[in-house]
Order: sequence, then C-alpha cells, then structure tokens
Amino acid sequence: MSNKAIVIGSGLGGIASAIRLRAKNYDVTLIEKNSDLGGRARTFYKNGYTFDAGPTVITAPYLIEELFLLFKKNINEYVKIIPLQIWYQFIFSDLSKFNYTSDHKVNLQEISKINSKDVIGFEKLLKFSEKIFNKGYLELADKPFSNFFFMLKQVPSLLLLKSYLSVYRFVSKFLKNEKLRKIFSVQPLLVGGNPFSTTSIYALILFLEKKWGVHYALGGTGKIVTALEKLMNEIGVKIIKNDEVVKIITDKKNIYGVVTKSNKTINANIVVCNADPPFVYKHLLDKKQNTFLFEKKIKRMDYSMGLFVYYFGSKKKYNDVQHHTIYFGDSYKDLLNKIFEEKILTDDISYYLHRPTATDPTMAPKDKDCFYVLVPVPNNLSKIKWDQEAEKFKKIIIKKLSSTLLPNIEEYIENDFYITPDYFEKELRTLHGSGFSIQPLFSQSAYFRFHNKSEIYKGLFFVGAGTHPGAGIPGVLSSAKILDKIVPKII
Ligand SMILES: Cc1cc2nc3c(=O)[nH]c(=O)nc-3n(C[C@H](O)[C@H](O)[C@H](O)COP(=O)(O)OP(=O)(O)OC[C@H]3O[C@@H](n4cnc5c(N)ncnc54)[C@H](O)[C@@H]3O)c2cc1C
Repeated sequence: MSNKAIVIGSGLGGIASAIRLRAKNYDVTLIEKNSDLGGRARTFYKNGYTFDAGPTVITAPYLIEELFLLFKKNINEYVKIIPLQIWYQFIFSDLSKFNYTSDHKVNLQEISKINSKDVIGFEKLLKFSEKIFNKGYLELADKPFSNFFFMLKQVPSLLLLKSYLSVYRFVSKFLKNEKLRKIFSVQPLLVGGNPFSTTSIYALILFLEKKWGVHYALGGTGKIVTALEKLMNEIGVKIIKNDEVVKIITDKKNIYGVVTKSNKTINANIVVCNADPPFVYKHLLDKKQNTFLFEKKIKRMDYSMGLFVYYFGSKKKYNDVQHHTIYFGDSYKDLLNKIFEEKILTDDISYYLHRPTATDPTMAPKDKDCFYVLVPVPNNLSKIKWDQEAEKFKKIIIKKLSSTLLPNIEEYIENDFYITPDYFEKELRTLHGSGFSIQPLFSQSAYFRFHNKSEIYKGLFFVGAGTHPGAGIPGVLSSAKILDKIVPKII
C-alpha cells in the first residue's frame, strides 16, 4: 500500500484529518479553495478589528490538544485556550436576563429566580443528559457508522434514552417554565437544527458543556487555526491554498486522485473530503455510480438553516454586554417554523451576539468593541435574493440590537460587513448555502448521515459537519478521529 493522501478542504475537520493522517505516516496534501485556512472557522481582519467568522464557543478543548500530543508537542506553546466563567447570558424580549455559568450553584440560583420549582427538574435534566452523553458522545461520537447492523444494535439503548423526542419536548419533560425550556433546548441551533425537530441525542451538549466548560482561545478562534497550520508545516503536511478540487478521479468505484481548478492532477491512494458531502457527490463525482438507495437518501435530505452574520466594530464600549449573549424574540416556535419550514424572513428575530472584547481587548482597537451578531435565516432553498434583501435585513438587526442590548449602536458602528447564505454556497461550496450542512435529525444521524467511509467509492472518506457525528467543533474533530479507525494501514 503506498501512502499518498489528499484532504479536500481546510475546515477544522479537514485540518484535524491531515494531522491524524500524517501521524499515521501518510504523505498528506491539503487543498483549500480559499486563500486562508479554517473554512467556517476562518478570520476576517479589518482596520484593527479581528472578527472570528464562525465558531466562538470552544467546548471539549482536549480534542484540539490531542492533535498536538500526536507529535509530542505542547499546545500552550502554540495557542492559549482559557475557560470562561459566564458561558452564556440569555435575554428575553422583556429584557430579563439569565446567566448560565461554570458555577453550578449560581445556575441553580438563576433558575430559582425564574421558577424555583424547576430547580429539581434541572438537576434531573442534567443527570439524564449525562446518560445520553455517555452513550452518544463517549461511546459513539468517534465510531464509524458504516454498518447497518452496528446501527441496529444501538437502537434499543437510543430508544431508552428517548432519542425519538425532539430536544424541546425532552427538555419540557423536566422543566415547566417556558423561558427555561427555551434556554436549555437552544443547543441544536448551534449545530444547525430546529430544537422542535432535532433528536434529543443532542441534549448531550448540556452535559458536554458541564464536563469540560466553555472556553475561548486568546486572540480568537482563528488562533487555533493558525496554531494548527504551524503544526502542519512542522510535521510536513503540504498545503495548497487558492486552488479548488473540481473533480475526484475515479475508475468505476475506485479513487485515484483529484483534478484542481488550475488544472493540476494530483494522484493519491486515499481522498478525504472535508468539503460538504452532498456537494461532493453532486459536483465532484460521477453520479452514475450511485446506487438507487443512495440517490434516494440524498434526495430526501433536509438541510440546516442559513445564517446571516453581521460583523461590526463599535467606537463605544458596551461594558455590560457579556462575551456570549443569546436573545430570544417574542416568537420562537413560530420563528423557527418560518426559518426551517416556510423558509421566509421575518422582523421578529432572535440572535446570538459575540463580544470577544468582553474577555480579550486585543480583538479591537483601544477603547473600542468588536462584535458579530448571528441571526438564523432560511437556507437558499428559500430563493431569497440576498443581493436585494441583505441591506434591509441589516437595518432590522441594527434596530433590534439598539432596542435590546446595544442602545444607540447605530451612532457608533464602524468597519461593518456581513455574510449571507450566498457566502456559504459560493465561498464555502455548501449545498443550498446551509450554515451547518444537513440537519441533525434522527433520520440523518449516525448510519443515516453521510458515512465517514464512502458508501460508494473505495478509498474515499468524509469528515466534517455533514458526516457522523455532525456539526460543531467537537463533532468535526471527532469525525477526524474516526479516520484513525477506517483508513487503510500503510505497510
Ligand atoms: C457563524 C457560525 C458560528 C458557529 N459557532 C460555533 C461555535 O461557537 N462552536 C462550535 O463548536 N461550532 C460552531 N459552529 C459550527 C462549526 O464552525 C462548524 O461545524 C465547523 O467549523 C465546520 O467544520 P468542517 O470541518 O465541517 O469544515 P468547514 O468549516 O465547512 O470547511 C470546509 C472547507 O472546505 C473548503 N472546500 C469546499 N469545497 C472545496 C473544494 N472543492 N476544493 C477545495 N476546498 C474546498 C471550503 O472552502 C472550506 O474551507 C459555527 C458555525 C458558523 C457558520
């Protein structure tokens, strides 16, 4: 067996795969279409501001450290990852606030302030979340689901864990207060799912956060990408930027390499796709090889919502605003229905606000604040014309920010810009511009998601958000760990 491996795409799943393959002695080439690495986790720089484009909440940081340990390196010499005390501040339309923190006692007090009867329910919810975590994360997140019988074997325990319930219904069994139900069922939105339809397996995130905490990389998430790029250079991963794989070379069901936009042919024994699997099967491979069942599987897929992310600097500092804030608008279920089902835009938005300067002043020029606000919107199956709608939508967001968390922000904004689902479709090549690839529904999880070892081609593998276990940094880093178990050994 010879040892050439190509990784298509430099999202965190792709980078982790390149490092893990190198540790297994593969000769690895990583190809990224954009001029910088990181995919959704890249960084935008503007006039002294550092804007993390995507992920900001770092959980399970040991998964990042493991990549350095594979080469006996000390992560602290590359990047500093620190725990946060206040994980999230939740705000409601009546402007009442709830701090969710690393201190369990404080959390119970906060719950008690809203509804003292829900304190016991919350303790029970956490205990149940731990059971799901033990099964869904510790046991299954880094295991390949290529075999239907392996999936079948898991079904009884998944049923016992109530995986047939949505996260919202699951949480509602423990908590009576509507505000608390929203707070503790919001996690699917962080990985592209509707809390009202995402399988309750994702309630494991509650315990995952409790176990390892919520972290921040000093200098922003981009510093994790820079650190991993440095590691890749040290260990001899070849990195090609600014070139796009336009075809995966196959002969019937075998893989031989890739062709890039600049007309390079690069041969390889294995190809690992970090690019979005539905996009890869649709545009980079010969559809004739797909079996009838596989075609059906692709056709029935539901995609995650789109994202409108508005990045801006503020000449004034808003010192009362926490690092991570989640604001719930008046309509919630109805809003999610409009986003996921009806696929229409609405004024009554909910949002996530990132203020890294709450922890790290280096993210903005002196005495200024750095922000991004993320608003879930329909993906591009909506046919929304973002070139016509985006400016109007930006104004709606600014008005909402001004009337909720950032009074008079319109007077202080500078260096602003935004991305829409078009960015995800065109720049990152994600089908339908979805923010997180396919949705985390039960019918699209584990065996039913895109397999890490291609179900069609020999030598083709998938990592990243569209594969098992799914989106989010812990998910995509775990998908790279699965490679260790399924790529051929080099003899
Ligand atoms: C705004 C936002 C906020 C988020 N917040 C969080 C958070 O706080 N915490 C968290 O854990 N997760 C968060 N997530 C989710 C997390 O960022 C993603 O799930 C994860 O980073 C995706 O990684 P990936 O490995 O799937 O690759 P991606 O980041 O999707 O990268 C894929 C790469 O492949 C490249 N590519 C595609 N096609 C080709 C081709 N043909 N040739 C060459 N290159 C190609 C793309 O350019 C891209 O760079 C967030 C996501 C977004 C968008």
